[in-house]
Amino acid sequence: MLNLVLFGAPGSGKGTQSEKLIEKYGLHHISTGEVLRKQIKEGTELGKIADSYISKGHLIPDSLMIDILRQELKSEAAAKKGVIFDGFPRTIPQAEALEEILRENGTELTGVIGLEVPEEELVARMLKRGAETGRADDNIETILNRLNVYHTQTEPLKEHYQGKGAYIRINGLGDTDRIFTDITGNIDGRSKK
Ligand code: AMP
Repeated sequence: MLNLVLFGAPGSGKGTQSEKLIEKYGLHHISTGEVLRKQIKEGTELGKIADSYISKGHLIPDSLMIDILRQELKSEAAAKKGVIFDGFPRTIPQAEALEEILRENGTELTGVIGLEVPEEELVARMLKRGAETGRADDNIETILNRLNVYHTQTEPLKEHYQGKGAYIRINGLGDTDRIFTDITGNIDGRSKK
């Protein structure tokens, strides 16, 4: 069973590559950002709480995020297939919780795919996405906050996973299909080991 974390700054292409990976490997996709945006759209209590953080570019508190992830992993599809975690974990406590939850479920992480993209390109991509989709947090002020949060709270996870030999560095700049081929080459090599 493949369990992959797609890791990278906002705008690094996690969503795009997730779609292609789901198609190739038949994995169950958990995007915590999408889960939260759905709650906001439906106007639920959780959505209201999430919106107060997302609109500022801040992270939702770990305890709440970990509860949400546990719920998402209870689905039948997650139990049957492997999972792509897109946008989770974003902090060290979230990474530790994920390892524990997977262990409880009798499985483990296969690898962490790190999409590495220069900062100017990240900003340009998010501004373009904001203009095309109307995504509320893709405005310049929130984008800069999100990048700051990424560097301070999320980027330390790279070292955490490198230390476990789980981090797979991918050049996330350039042609989408070339990036995908790099990812699958690494995954296929890893799952044969
Ligand atoms: P994303 O779609 O992954 O870029 O997430 C959009 C926003 O949702 C982030 O800027 C955070 O405010 C929130 N969010 C998504 N996933 C997480 C997470 N794992 N921990 C904390 N906040 C999250």
